[in-house]
Amino acid sequence: MSLTTPYYLIDKSKLLANMEKVARLRDLSGAKALLALKCFATWSVFDLMRDYMDGTTSSSLNEVRLGHERFGKETHAYSVAYADYEIDEVISHADKIIFNSVSQLDRFGDKASGIVRGLRLNPGISSSTFDLADPARPFSRLGEWDVKQVEPVMDRISGFMIHNNCENGDFDLFDRMLGTIEEKFAPLLKKAEWVSLGGGIHFTGETYPLEKFAERLKRFSGEYGVQVYLEPGEASITKSTTLEVTVLDTLNNGKDLAIVDSSIEAHMLDLLIYRENAKLLPNTGPHRTMVCGKSCLAGDIFGEFNFEAPLKVGDRISIQDAAGYTMVKKNWFNGVKMPAIAIRELDGSIRTVREFTYADYEESLS
Ligand SMILES: *Cc1c(COP(=O)(O)O)cnc(C)c1O
Repeated sequence: MSLTTPYYLIDKSKLLANMEKVARLRDLSGAKALLALKCFATWSVFDLMRDYMDGTTSSSLNEVRLGHERFGKETHAYSVAYADYEIDEVISHADKIIFNSVSQLDRFGDKASGIVRGLRLNPGISSSTFDLADPARPFSRLGEWDVKQVEPVMDRISGFMIHNNCENGDFDLFDRMLGTIEEKFAPLLKKAEWVSLGGGIHFTGETYPLEKFAERLKRFSGEYGVQVYLEPGEASITKSTTLEVTVLDTLNNGKDLAIVDSSIEAHMLDLLIYRENAKLLPNTGPHRTMVCGKSCLAGDIFGEFNFEAPLKVGDRISIQDAAGYTMVKKNWFNGVKMPAIAIRELDGSIRTVREFTYADYEESLS
């Protein structure tokens, strides 16, 4: 099988391992799990994920439609702000709609009276250390925070969404923050029928105390009499996918450099935004080399890694952990060839599900 690089390779057996943890958490805690499409929306593997999750959540009309049409089951709609021209279609695809503000609820709540309605709350605390991704940053527009403003609208809503975790692998921190949420919002939680605690909780990680987490969710659910939802994005698909690339050129400018047929700017943009290196395994050999993208952006660099042998033209490299916030963010910068999407089936065979051509590039512009 010699598929041309670059391509994202989703390994179903690894995805399945995550799904089994999600299913176990649902069993132990009674919480429901919705895939956050903004992180991962590669619908070719929804057939596998559907059996282990309760549905999807979304951040736009396009996502809620994709969730409804390609995943099915429960479909939550949320958006920072809906426009007049899209609200009817959003409602037609959703069984629950979560408004970001009381004013959006005032504007569109009546139209949505046929489905379950909720509101996003902002507890003013988060696990994020990067302000770009901190929902509780100063002056945050993400949700209502004043109990007095929300109490008068309780007759129109039956639940809340609170998303304030971000790549949080620390159960004790989750537990403490949930305690603060309970203190702040107890009067509202007592009147709610359901609460979504959002995404950003790294509960599929190898060392995460899944049982303690499940027990905490169950206790929260019992205390307020609410159905708990989680919205795992990254946790659903972590470590399931690689970006497969090939070395196109090598040079030494004081350091050994290798240029590959991909671009961190175009194909793994989140790493660049959050100033993180890509991950390569095993990363233990004696030949340290900087792996660079092929766009003309000077800082288009995947990172420096340790290889067993000096890299040469034609060598293949697998960039690890390439599922979340990659395929949903890929772009045509520099016109770099768009990675195909391939799936390693449970029997080990590899199937290409999407290739991108010049026509796709041309049609992305006019
Ligand atoms: C981003 C986001 C998620 C998913 O976050 P992950 O970190 O990928 O788990 C879930 N819910 C909401 C409201 C979000 O904004």
